Amino acid sequence: MAQQEDVFKKIVSHCKEYGFVFPSSDIYDGLGAVYDYGQNGVELKNNIKQYWWQSMVLLHENIVGIDAAIFMHPTTWKASGHVDAFNDPLIDNRDSKKRYRADVLIEEQMAKYEDKIQKEIEKAQKRFGDAFDEAQFRATNARVLENQEKFDALHKRYQEVMNAEGGIDLEGMKQIILDEGIVCPISGTRNWTDVRQFNLMFKTEMGSTADGASTIYLRPETAQGIFVNYLNVQKTGRMKLPFGIAQIGKAFRNEIVARQFIFRMREFEQMEMQFFIKPGTELDWFAKWKETRMKWHQNLGFGAENYRFHDHDKLAHYANAATDIEFHMPFGFKEVEGIHSRTNFDLSQHAKYSGKKIEYFDPETNESYTPYVIETSIGVDRMFLSIMCHSYEEQQLPDGQTRTVLHLPAALAPVKLAVFPLTKKDGMPEKAQEIINDLRFHFNCKYEEKDQIGKRYRRMDAIGCPYCVTVDQQTLEDNTVTLRDRDTMEQRRVAISELRGIIEDQVSITSLLKKLL
Ligand code: ATP
Repeated sequence: MAQQEDVFKKIVSHCKEYGFVFPSSDIYDGLGAVYDYGQNGVELKNNIKQYWWQSMVLLHENIVGIDAAIFMHPTTWKASGHVDAFNDPLIDNRDSKKRYRADVLIEEQMAKYEDKIQKEIEKAQKRFGDAFDEAQFRATNARVLENQEKFDALHKRYQEVMNAEGGIDLEGMKQIILDEGIVCPISGTRNWTDVRQFNLMFKTEMGSTADGASTIYLRPETAQGIFVNYLNVQKTGRMKLPFGIAQIGKAFRNEIVARQFIFRMREFEQMEMQFFIKPGTELDWFAKWKETRMKWHQNLGFGAENYRFHDHDKLAHYANAATDIEFHMPFGFKEVEGIHSRTNFDLSQHAKYSGKKIEYFDPETNESYTPYVIETSIGVDRMFLSIMCHSYEEQQLPDGQTRTVLHLPAALAPVKLAVFPLTKKDGMPEKAQEIINDLRFHFNCKYEEKDQIGKRYRRMDAIGCPYCVTVDQQTLEDNTVTLRDRDTMEQRRVAISELRGIIEDQVSITSLLKKLL
């Protein structure tokens, strides 16, 4: 674990050193859990967004996009339930003065029991080899049974407090923390305050106070911008159910515990799609979207073993199914995307609060109803982090040297091709520029002439550039260059005229999209 934390720290500093992610307002020592994307980060982020947007809007005839404003009428948040219930249960340790999310403390405790069971299984697996029967081991091993019992008991209690009538049972939550002997990781003590609810929305004012300013919120999710536009899009786009509306945009949450770099931010970006369907078909569509979204993730080639579904124990009262797609980060399996079956809750609430009829007339059955919704909601920044974590490698080379390389999927890499003149003379720089001038219309190219070639390769490896081309003496004679591959480091001689054909297909978002069909 310590080793994994080390790797994570290295990834964070790599992000800063190579222009991916900077702390916000860095010259003023940053702002808690707010980050800026640098020259390479913005390219990677844009590519992630494009991959998502195109997979939704280009590949589905019945999904269209919108771009709603961040500021929304304040009643939106009353209707959606955010004013009354977008809370996190928080608890303070009196000795360290640190604040935690009570639900997270309990979930981490459950994960500890699961880890203990997993370790026993791994140990036994090694000992028994091929003869190992996991089901039998789970059913008979005393230590596994003991931890499973603890896990089940805690799980049951947790579900009870989270689903208590009238909202989360805060006293019950504190009692669990005390009974489980959960200590503050900083002070090591159990000196806890009561659990309190804390609303996560940022407030601001619109208009001058003299005019009677109204309180408005920075949206904590992009979804409501879609719900309030349902009628506009359905009518003007003459959309027939089932259909979806996709949106990418900023969201803001005053997170209590903002940790782990860009995993939990106070200003972040979401890519959300609300899929409107006929009531009664929601569980089929939920299953379909689970599969579609998992495929989108796995299509990046990071290995199926690094993803899992985590079905929710606590369903919001309006939801009838919910799951997370979790990715194996250096700090454990963590949520990257949520998929929720939200019934007709949001549209009905907006109908109620706005007094407008928000329904769909079904020409097939001649009836009107409020559509149900399946939502897929993914954080751009978390996706960015998962890609960084998986791509980062400190590689030992056969000659004893090491190199830091980002094995980014080529279609997402910020720079696709770097072009180097071997030396700064004999017309090589001009030739290199000529190549760039030709290819820059097709993909992102970079020119580099400083330092010896080896160093230039290392710099490109560190930003995940999949291809480097070197212009040398021979180029001037026969118009060929060496093309070097980031991952294999192999070099081959190719004609300049072939470059576009070789590279374009590998680095285009289209190449990723084609694999989805
Ligand atoms: P968590 O339980 O981690 O707080 P959540 O369940 O509240 O997340 P959702 O409301 O389902 O998250 O939001 C959908 C997605 O938005 C998440 O899967 C995540 O990728 C992203 N997201 C949510 N909160 C943040 C945040 N504070 N910083 C970065 N991304 C976030």
